[in-house]
This record gives sequence, structure tokens and C-alpha cells, in this order.
Amino acid sequence: MSARKNRNRLQNEFDELEIKCQNLSPYSNFEYFNELPLSSLTQEGLQESNYIQMTEIQRKAIPLALHGKDVLGAAKTGSGKTLALLIPLIEKLFREKWSQLDGLGALVIAPTRELAVQIFEVLRKIGRKHTLSAGLVIGGKKLEVEQERINRMNILICTPGRLLQHMDQTASFNCDNLQILILDEADRILDMGFEKTVNAIIDNLPKERQTLLFSATQTNSVKDLARLSLTYVFVHEQSEHSTPPNLSQYYLLCKLPEKLDILFSFIKSHLKTKGLVFFSSCKQVRFVYETFCKMQPGVTLMHLHGKQKQHKRLEIFNKFSSIKYAYLFATDIASRGLDFPAVDWVIQVDAPENADTYIHRVGRTARYEAPGNALLYLLPNEEQGMLGVLEKKKVPIEKIKVKPSKITSVQKQLQLLCFKDPEIKYLSQKAFISYMRSVYLQSDKSIFNVNELPAEEFSSSLGLSGTPKIKFAKKSGSKNDIREKSKERNERSEIGISDDDINSVDNQIKVDEKKSKPKKTKLEKMFQRKNMSVFTDHYKKLVEYESDKEDEFITLKRVNHELPEEFEQKKPESLSKRKLLMAKSKKHSIANAPRGEKLLFDEDGNFHAAGPVLDQKKKFLDKELKVMEEEDVKDKIIAKEKQLEDSEEEIAFKNKRHKILEDSEEETTFKNKRHKILEVEEPMTLEDQEELALKLLEGR
Ligand code: ADP
Ligand code: MG
Repeated sequence: MSARKNRNRLQNEFDELEIKCQNLSPYSNFEYFNELPLSSLTQEGLQESNYIQMTEIQRKAIPLALHGKDVLGAAKTGSGKTLALLIPLIEKLFREKWSQLDGLGALVIAPTRELAVQIFEVLRKIGRKHTLSAGLVIGGKKLEVEQERINRMNILICTPGRLLQHMDQTASFNCDNLQILILDEADRILDMGFEKTVNAIIDNLPKERQTLLFSATQTNSVKDLARLSLTYVFVHEQSEHSTPPNLSQYYLLCKLPEKLDILFSFIKSHLKTKGLVFFSSCKQVRFVYETFCKMQPGVTLMHLHGKQKQHKRLEIFNKFSSIKYAYLFATDIASRGLDFPAVDWVIQVDAPENADTYIHRVGRTARYEAPGNALLYLLPNEEQGMLGVLEKKKVPIEKIKVKPSKITSVQKQLQLLCFKDPEIKYLSQKAFISYMRSVYLQSDKSIFNVNELPAEEFSSSLGLSGTPKIKFAKKSGSKNDIREKSKERNERSEIGISDDDINSVDNQIKVDEKKSKPKKTKLEKMFQRKNMSVFTDHYKKLVEYESDKEDEFITLKRVNHELPEEFEQKKPESLSKRKLLMAKSKKHSIANAPRGEKLLFDEDGNFHAAGPVLDQKKKFLDKELKVMEEEDVKDKIIAKEKQLEDSEEEIAFKNKRHKILEDSEEETTFKNKRHKILEVEEPMTLEDQEELALKLLEGR
């Protein structure tokens, strides 16, 4: 076909699609993707990826979005929201005849790196025939490396912190032509404290654009975000339950010291299983992983947590995605949005902080049409409260009993391991302390009560011969500036347990002594405070902030990420448009300038009076010194930002995706036929589907 004919054909397709989309009824209830007015390139991409029939959220949200509406789509985990957001994105740019030269046309924001990578993967799959370029902006690499390429991208998939950093620091970053903004897992983005960041990002975007929001839960915060979009598609709002119908959910009642016995026994009796096991902190994950590996249950064990290096996480994600039988011990970094293929069991050894976290965790199984099981361990004092919040959220859960005869105690083995290996003992102590702390910090005091935990028995169950001492020191104060916090932290350690705390006899416990204490339990003596919830807001923030760095707890929601003022003090040449606009307001400095003297207008947009040479010299030196100091502060803030981002609990993905990460950051054009196309037969059974999923994951 000649180039001209080809152009004409494309032009016809653009026109036809535009008309069809305009005429699309929001109530159309197509069943198959090929009934939708989509470009032939997208249709081919979908077919080749074996996406034929739409899920409910796709049936409802895609036609609305193609019609040009702003959509807020809420649907259960595993119900296919990724395609529901990506198809309208690609089509929007296609119908706008977007080309490489048109710059940034679409932004997708995801709460974590790992989810961003996964969305990017799906985009590559279904968009493989298009010539749009897409990149990941998720941190983990030098800003400059991303800066160089970011402008060549038509589609960016980002985490909020990193995106804002580019908006502020990448002079050439331009979103003026943005056509479509998408927030995936919007509830999580807000829960993680990115609200301010997201608002700042949105302020930078053109008002004339389409906005799509997706989330698995319908929290108030998401409804608040609904101001960005007027059409709601709550596909499962009327449904009886908020979790997938193919998910069987159970809980068992157990005592804290029995948890590991039950887990080990479960694993031993379910060897041909792929299981995801949640704990509340990395330290517990490490301890259980290290010791269980030594006890050789007879199935592969893996662990994933926020303290691991990016490449390590990539490797683990890759392995767990493709392995048939294994148990992955993880913190909540693995709970959000990730699509591990064919997980049979999600086991929550430590209770989730609330019902939404529960829903996200169990959502890692029973994805799409696959069946799945979830098991929650509840302590007697957690039972009533947790069941209450789950019921309120329409989670159907059934009690099961474990036969005592089926439980093998691992306490002796753990004791032996602790005895033989000081490192294991150290891990065990840390696991104990971090669990106690996680309960102590839980915000829902109606469910969690650290006073009711049998501390001694619990520490014995972890193989320890003595109960580690814990201190929670408190310093009064009510400053809430993040920098003040770090300053204070340097002065003295705040709440939290440092390594030195363990077994340190002379730990002083600083608490709010003014509070009266009618009676003292052992634990209260341990923490030396009566009412665990009597904290100032500032204090809570300190705890949360500290723990971002120190550890991760299911209890901890992030403090709203501060937007450090230091970002306002950029070198002039690196000023972005947003910053330049801000700088304009410096014009007010003209009003304050001295009268009757010559005024100099400097690069920063400030006016200065020119005076005698020596004065000028001194001023110049002072100014340079100040600039250096500011730069220093700025560097520190950037380093801190990075740390915050890292603790976003970003996972990296499959090994092979390593390459993709690099490619993507370098620039990925769907058209470039680097990716081999996988030939597959239509899957008939669940096994086929599993196999297909594996092939697709491995095939790239
Ligand atoms: P959610 O974001 O709602 O949790 P995902 O978009 O991650 O769900 O999709 C869950 C799984 O379902 C993925 O493995 C995806 O490939 C699969 N899936 C989604 N839509 C379809 C479809 N229409 N046909 C077949 N599989 C689908
Ligand atoms: Mg999703």
C-alpha cells in the first residue's frame, strides 16, 4: 500500500472512531472488546494478549471514558481495572493523532513503583502496535538520567513524589498539552499521604483534560477525589460483598505464641501451594523466613520487604510470579495492586490495620476468574473488633478451627536456632520488639491492645530465653515541620527502638508522667505509660516519620508528604515553568527596594541596590555563601525525599523487567519490534490460563 493510501486509510479511521465515540451511549453494554470503537492497532494488541471478553468494570468504564467523560471507577481487586484505564488512554491519544513530536499526552499515577511497573507492562502488551512512546518515572535512578528522556515521552507512568520532583526541577518538562490524567489505586495514593503532592501535580496540569480515577475500595478520601471526575462507576457498590466472589475467606482464632506453630504446620500440610504470607514488619518477615528456611518445610520459601535492595526485589518478584509452589513472606509492600499469577492462599499472620488493608491483601489472590483462599489469624482480643470492621465493609469471612493434633510446635527448634546462632537470636529479638511496637502504634485501639499481649510467652515462642526490654521515649514538643523533626531526632532519639535498646538494662522510659496510672500491668511497666493513645499529633507524626525510615508497619499511614520549601530555591537555570511562575511573584520585591539608587535586577528576579565596590564585594560573598548553604540544605532534602520514596515500599519486578525498566527509562517505542510475539492457543482450563500467564510473563 502506498504511503498516501495508508495516510488516507488512517485518516478515515480517525474520523470514524471520533464519530463512533461521540455517539457512544454511556449505557451501552458491550460484552467483547471487538465491539468497542477502538483503533485496529489496539484491537490487535488486545487480541494478541488474549483479552477477548470484558470484565464488568471494563464494560462500564471504557465506553464512558471513550465518550470523553471523566470517570471514577471503583471495582473489586482483580477485576481488570488496569485495562479499563489503559485502553481509553491509548485511544484518546490515537484519536488526537498524537505523534512522538507532540510531547506528553498522558500521565498515569500509581502509589508504588511496583504497581507503576506492572501498569507499564500491560501498556506495552496492549499498545505494542502503536507508535507512542512511554516511560516510567519512578525514582530509583538518578534524576538527571530521567530528566534527559522525560520529554521524549508521550505517556508517563509515575509515582507521585518523583513526578512532582520533575515538575519542579526539570526545566524542560512540559505538560501543557496533557490530554488525559489517570490515578490508579487512588485510595492508596491518598492513604500513603500523597494528597498534597497529588494536588500540587494537578495544579500544574491543564484544566482541559480528561481524568480517570480507579480504586478497589470506596473510601471517603476517594469520594473526595471525585471532585476531579463527575461520572462514577461503582460497579460493585450494590454487590453483596466487597471482595471477589471466587475468594473463600476464613479466620482462625489463636494465641499470639501459637502463630508460628500454626503457620509452620499449615505450610507442611500445604506443600503444593502458592501462598503469600503477610506480617506487620520487615523484621518479622526476616526472622520467620530465616528460621523457617533452616527448618526445611519442603517447599520453596521467599521473602519480600522494604529493606531489600531494588534488584533483589526484582529477582524475588520475578521468581514468585513464575514459580508454581512457594510461600512468599512479605510486608504490605506486596499488598497493593500487584498481580502475581495463580496465588492459592493469602495468609495474614498479623492482622491488617483496617478493613481496606485487609481487602487489598486478600486481593492478591482470586484475581480475574481464578479461585483463591484467604486466612486471617486473629488473637482473642482482636476477634470482635476486626470482625466488626470487616462486616461493615461487606467482607464475608468464616471461622475455621485448627485441630490441635495437627499443630506441631516449633518453639524448641527456634530456641535451638537462637541458641546456636547469635544472629538468629538478634533477629528474634527484633521481631519481638517490632511486633509489639506495631501493635502499640495501631490506630484502631478498639481492635488492638498491646496490654493484652502475653509478652513473655510470645518471646519464648520466638525461641528467646528472656523477654527483651522495650523503651518508648517521648520528648514533648509541638513543632510539626518535618525539618524540625529531623533536627530533634538528631538531638536525641525519639520513640522507637534502636538496636541499643535491646537488652539494655538502663533504658530510661520517658513518658507523659502527668497522666495518672490507676493500675500497672507488666506491659505498662514495660512501656511505662498508661494510656497508649495519649500522644500529641506531633508525637504521632514523629513516630510515623521515624518509622518510614526505620521500619514499616501496617499501622502506619504516611504523614502527608511535606513539599519542602527548599525546592523553592532552585538554581535559575533549572527553574521549571511552575517555579518561574512562582518567581514572578518576586516582583513584589521591587516595592521594598531602596529608593533613589540604581537598581540591579538579578537572575533570581530580585532587585538590589548597587552600592560602593567593597560593599558590593561583601554582599557578593555573603550571597554566594548563602547560596552554598541553601544548596546544601536542598541536597539534604532531596536525599530525604529519596529515602521517603524508597520507603514507599517500591518493589521492583522480574529480572527480565530489569531490562524493561532500563529500556523504559531510556525510551520505549511500542513499534520497535524488540519484543517477540508469543503464540498461544486459547486457554481452555485454569491450568491453561496459568500456563499462559506464565508464558506471557516469561515470554518477554
Ligand atoms: P485490578 O486492577 O482490578 O486489581 P488487574 O487489572 O490487575 O485487576 O487484572 C487482574 C487480572 O485479570 C490480570 O491478570 C489481568 O490480566 C486479567 N484480566 C483483566 N481483564 C481481563 C479480561 N478482559 N480478560 C482476561 N483477563 C483479564
Ligand atoms: Mg489494579
